[in-house]
Amino acid sequence: MIRFLPLVFLVVPFLSIGQIEHCGFDLYLQRQEAQNPGFKDQFLSFWNHAQPSTSGSNRNTVYEIPVVFHMVYNTEDQNLSDEVFLSQLAILNADFRRTNANAVNTREIFLPLAADAEIEFVLATVDPQGNPTTGINHVQTDRNGFALDIFSTENTLDEVKFAETGGVDAWDTQHYINIWVCNVLDTGFGQLFGLAYPPTGAPTFAGLIDTVEDDVAGIILHYTVLGDNNPSADDDGIVFNNSGRTLTHEMGHYLGLRHIWGDGFFNGCAADDGISDTPNQDQATSYNCNFAINTCTDTTNDMPDMIENYMDYNEDDCYNMFTAEQVAMMRFCLEELRTELIADQIVGVEEQANVTLSVFPNPANDMVSVVCKAQMVEVLDAGGRVVKRQAHNGGKLSINVAELPVGFYFLSLTSESKIGKFTIQR
Ligand SMILES: [Zn+2]
Repeated sequence: MIRFLPLVFLVVPFLSIGQIEHCGFDLYLQRQEAQNPGFKDQFLSFWNHAQPSTSGSNRNTVYEIPVVFHMVYNTEDQNLSDEVFLSQLAILNADFRRTNANAVNTREIFLPLAADAEIEFVLATVDPQGNPTTGINHVQTDRNGFALDIFSTENTLDEVKFAETGGVDAWDTQHYINIWVCNVLDTGFGQLFGLAYPPTGAPTFAGLIDTVEDDVAGIILHYTVLGDNNPSADDDGIVFNNSGRTLTHEMGHYLGLRHIWGDGFFNGCAADDGISDTPNQDQATSYNCNFAINTCTDTTNDMPDMIENYMDYNEDDCYNMFTAEQVAMMRFCLEELRTELIADQIVGVEEQANVTLSVFPNPANDMVSVVCKAQMVEVLDAGGRVVKRQAHNGGKLSINVAELPVGFYFLSLTSESKIGKFTIQR
């Protein structure tokens, strides 16, 4: 479980009362920075060229992922009907397949970047015990809601994920995406719409989040943000989150995406999201659907802020796209870090006809062999740092990894815009 650092001395200087916090990940970042000033700068430059390319992923395999919603309600108006969940799922799928009706609103400058993630979400049909299920699990709780206690060392919102604290235990999080829907209480720092943990080992979060325990992996949503037909949508007094896109944003996090502005606070234009085809952006757009915004001047090919990106903070109806590299990152995280969700659907990189890359043994111990056509092979650690670089003349290349710590590594093949990966175990 992510443990928040004690905040006793911290009076949350970054938050103003009543500010809307779309996504709880902000709070986590702000706490880290408050505890360790400069913390952010340490990881902002970590990931400059190690993104998996779109071609390196198994494109054209449309992944189907089983989802379970745990509707943890106290009062009946919190107990959303299955029609709301079906609406929510349809919105999520349209956004991930880029069949969303407002895809036509993507500005021309961004059209070449917009991408279909080829990921679909389906309600689970079988529960972990093998029984038939609708995939929507309605459970009443005695608690009037769940709150993120900023003075706790734990993420207290995670209490919704355990029956013993008034929530519902996760279904095997390696095989289902668990989405808990509940009354997320506003404790005076703004209404939280949702919170998601990225996968353990997500390169975009290197140095920020090391391990997320299986029993809390998943997404939490405030009950008002689901679907576009939610009769309780205005219980939060907010009208711009009524089109069901909080889940699209949180699912992006769950699959390894960072906020598009890179989460910088004092150095926004220097902060990056680890994705190279999203324009540099100083800060969250903050629910201002303003297409004129251009907060950072890019050195080449300056572009306006991509306010229509799902990983910004904007009004639901302004969101309409993921980029190709965001898609590649999500598919990479799915194929490498959330593997069990798609275990029966994955096609090995080596099996693709147009890719000639093999890596063995995998896991490796002291030596790893790489067969590829690249003239330069780089080994990068999970944080995207180059730890080895070797020239290559074709055929088999042996790389000594004896001195590298155990863990997860990437292979970057220069000139081929491909990426491989392997683990070291001893
Ligand atoms: Zn977020």
